[in-house]
Amino acid sequence: MDFLPIFLNIRERPCLVIGGGNVAERKVSLLLDAGARVTVISTELCDNLKELQEQNIIEYRQGEYTEDDLSGKALVIAATDNHAVNESISSWANQHNVPVNVVDNPDLGSFIMPSIIDRSPVQIAISTGGSSPVLARTLRSKLESMIPSAYGRLGELMEENREMAKQVFSSVDERRYFWERILSGPVVEMVMAGQDARAREYLSQEFKDAQNKQHHDVGEVYLVGAGPGDPDLLTFRALRLMQQADVVVYDRLVSKQILDLVRRDADRIYVGKERSNHAVPQEDINHLLARLGKEGKKVCRLKGGDPFIFGRGGEEIDTLMQQEVPFQVVPAVTAASGAASYAGIPLTHRDYSQSVVFATGHLKDGSMNLNWDGLAQPNQTIVFYMGLQGLDVICRELIAHGMPSDTPIALVQKATTPEQKVVTGVLESMPQAVKDSDIKPPTLIIVGKVVTLHERLNWFQH
Ligand code: SAH
Repeated sequence: MDFLPIFLNIRERPCLVIGGGNVAERKVSLLLDAGARVTVISTELCDNLKELQEQNIIEYRQGEYTEDDLSGKALVIAATDNHAVNESISSWANQHNVPVNVVDNPDLGSFIMPSIIDRSPVQIAISTGGSSPVLARTLRSKLESMIPSAYGRLGELMEENREMAKQVFSSVDERRYFWERILSGPVVEMVMAGQDARAREYLSQEFKDAQNKQHHDVGEVYLVGAGPGDPDLLTFRALRLMQQADVVVYDRLVSKQILDLVRRDADRIYVGKERSNHAVPQEDINHLLARLGKEGKKVCRLKGGDPFIFGRGGEEIDTLMQQEVPFQVVPAVTAASGAASYAGIPLTHRDYSQSVVFATGHLKDGSMNLNWDGLAQPNQTIVFYMGLQGLDVICRELIAHGMPSDTPIALVQKATTPEQKVVTGVLESMPQAVKDSDIKPPTLIIVGKVVTLHERLNWFQH
């Protein structure tokens, strides 16, 4: 993060704009909207600023600024058309810790002005860190059209009821649950439809009901599949639950980008799962989830890929079921689908493969207890999860059970992420090829004739 986004309260605070042209005027009008006391210093004023001066809305001083003018200001905007002047304003202000923005050179100042979507009291500020104002504006117009103007009134309604919520609900969590429920209920539609009075009535009824019911919020565990890595592959439901969780329990396969989408204030518990070094034993994870749920928490158990494909999701909900903790399961794109799509290897194909099997390639005591005869079938694709360490065994056993030694095989490392790497070869020579490479887990193994399609259909490149 190059900048810290904040919203500054400058109501009744002295702010200084140096410069009197159109650019200065736009900044002045923003400062006035935020309730600041604005002084403009400039050799001359454009018509609109003149008008503001005549109406005593701004204070104006004709001439050059001095350092005394800068000192003690809540913020300063350098908007002259003289680059050297702007530069000396910013250099003094920076030295004296007065927040300063330089309109023609954002790098000089201590803060930059974002693109704004104003639905006061709701405000959205967008910044590209100065890298592309056009990109910021494009995003802004997208959001403008997505966020109805009624959001402002919705914000007001909530503001009006903040005190009430504090009286009715003593804890922060209770208040948050209440508002989350309200915001996913009919009140929003009422406000959007302009039926504010009805919305107010509904809300006050909700408060009354909450006061009468001594209700105890039970927790819930969300067993959420996070997909193979690319955050765009999350489901809507996954994202929604990630954003309302109090605690997130995640492991190594969950990418940082995805973790960044979890509600900021949520506690994060890492229960990593390194190969053969389970940071927290599965049994403990099961009990941890149950305990957090019983404490009334909304727990997001975030797992790589799909929770029910080599994810031990079944064991986790089994414990929750036994201990009567409510839960829900959110499916996701499993590594096989992600790797297949992003590597251009269709798992089935009319010419090559009429079935696909997902198998675990996890080594136990140096071997794999699999039905090799069933796997080594022609016209079938086999996908091995967790198979990198056991690649030797996989290739040897498949050949031993009748698969031609030149059967195509692909390894897909970190599928769907910018570090995706695909290595293709044949059963016989792949183990050696991998020893000579720097392929790392997580890696998925795909065996079958469909692998030959990779060369033609490979579309995902960085
Ligand atoms: N529940 C997960 C699988 C967990 S088992 C799912 O549905 O995808 C862990 C194995 O999944 C890893 O050893 C690797 O074989 C595979 N895997 C998970 N994410 C992957 C990725 N982004 N790229 C390649 N393989 C991946």
